Amino acid sequence: MSRRTIIAGNWKMNMRADTAAALAKGVSEAVGENPSVEVAVCPPSVYLHLVSDVLAGSAVGLGAQNLYPAGDGAYTGEVNAAMLSDCGCRYVILGHSERRALMGETDKQVSEKLAAALAGNLVPIVCVGETLEDREAGKTEDVVGTQLRGSLEGLDESRATGVVIAYEPVWAIGTGKTATPEQAEDVHAFIRNLLGELFTPEVASQMRIQYGGSVKPGNAEELLGQPNIDGALVGGASLKVDDFVGIIKAG
Ligand code: PEP
Repeated sequence: MSRRTIIAGNWKMNMRADTAAALAKGVSEAVGENPSVEVAVCPPSVYLHLVSDVLAGSAVGLGAQNLYPAGDGAYTGEVNAAMLSDCGCRYVILGHSERRALMGETDKQVSEKLAAALAGNLVPIVCVGETLEDREAGKTEDVVGTQLRGSLEGLDESRATGVVIAYEPVWAIGTGKTATPEQAEDVHAFIRNLLGELFTPEVASQMRIQYGGSVKPGNAEELLGQPNIDGALVGGASLKVDDFVGIIKAG
């Protein structure tokens, strides 16, 4: 089963409106009408509308960095799946390690967000990954397995192929330290195997698993060439048109 490579840029809490518009324009022009891979950018939520307008008619999809799993109501400061769709979003990043570490987001909350994203017809990108301490203690598979089981709790097999997993070792995010292609492939293979247990091997073979953690144009080709790596979730390098496009071209 062939899986379409997906490259997504996580802009995090960076930039102002003018730079967001320029970055979106630069990426969409460079990517053109028919990229061989699926491409998305995930701006800060306050710029979603603006970036959606810039991307209108382009092959670059729009994603959000988070959502709140409820319908409209008294949830001050939050944004739900329907609002993200209304802004033109197709994707939403869930359970990013920064949210897990800084906002205390739990696997249970991620699973609730996942259900809300699917109910709102968004493509969820569910992030998992171990810390350096976990890895050095030989706990990578334990930690990633627990996060994956908890975050996908309640996910029906019939919806699973519409979910993207992002394996992002925390020690490789924003540090310039990339997992070697072998280290990444080992964990991706473990994840696919576990998805096969949670669903079926056939479903697992159709699910896309991105790698994230200091992906750059110079290391993207080798990472994306691994059998179980189906794309990249890119932080720092997605903030520069040339770097992001270099990664897309490697896909
Ligand atoms: C990320 O935060 O999702 C990420 C992968 O960041 P960076 O590419 O900067 O390591």
